[in-house]
Amino acid sequence: MRLSVVTLFPEMFRTATDSGVLGRAVESGVVQLGLFNPRDYTSDRHRTVDDRPYGGGPGMVMMVEPLMAAIAAATAACDEPRAEPVSEQGGRPLRPKVIYLSPQGQRLDQAKVRALAAEPALVLVAGRYEGIDERVVEAVVDEEISIGDYVLTGGELPAMVLLDALSRHLPGTLGNSASSVEESHLDGLLDYPHYTRPENVAGRVVPSVLLTGDHGAITRWRRQQAFWRTWQRRPDMLVGREWSQEDRELFAKLLEKNFA
Ligand code: SAM
Repeated sequence: MRLSVVTLFPEMFRTATDSGVLGRAVESGVVQLGLFNPRDYTSDRHRTVDDRPYGGGPGMVMMVEPLMAAIAAATAACDEPRAEPVSEQGGRPLRPKVIYLSPQGQRLDQAKVRALAAEPALVLVAGRYEGIDERVVEAVVDEEISIGDYVLTGGELPAMVLLDALSRHLPGTLGNSASSVEESHLDGLLDYPHYTRPENVAGRVVPSVLLTGDHGAITRWRRQQAFWRTWQRRPDMLVGREWSQEDRELFAKLLEKNFA
């Protein structure tokens, strides 16, 4: 997947891409990451990228021209010839989606991550100051994405959050691909609890079913735990769920056991 990030602080991305799953994805080329700094697209001596807001008020706003030029370069980099075939529309390669990380955007969730991971390329725009000039949003932004209902000083951390979440869905990034199938939110449930050695930690022992080697019983226990956690911590996630007969029975037993 090609990912171009437009940012005034490209050096921040080293922390995310130097290690872990994302680091390996970048190193192996599963993620082809390009960083584009609007400052490199300025024409004045001071390399100015921000200006005062029209109408007054606090803070600065990211200027249109350097930002548009950086987004154009980031988009072009995604369109460069690549080994795998690109989906076409009317004979022309599809333009990569341009996503502006913004507290005003759609809240990021696992379904959104999965949908975006299916894109061949994305351009992520990280804002700074009071944000970017609205005309950039109107002209080139396809989607705005928020990582939560709070305001950060810049879009770099949100872009890294999205990069990290995306990288887990790309083929070949996770050593054990089952781990991306059994995680919180993937099946509309929170994850079950995990244990490793030692068996006894100051009197807290590993649930005995996990020591039986009975894979069927372990799978059922884990699914029950996932239901129990979701029901206790995020009951909203169970609203509107499509229940299989097996899950219905499992959940009924769980309620019976805990409230009998
Ligand atoms: N004035 C803007 C507002 O209230 O909507 C906030 C600007 S914020 C200080 C600077 C930049 O940080 C934004 O342009 C955006 O790129 C990024 N940002 C801040 N909080 C974010 C969030 N929760 N999700 C995604 N991006 C965020």
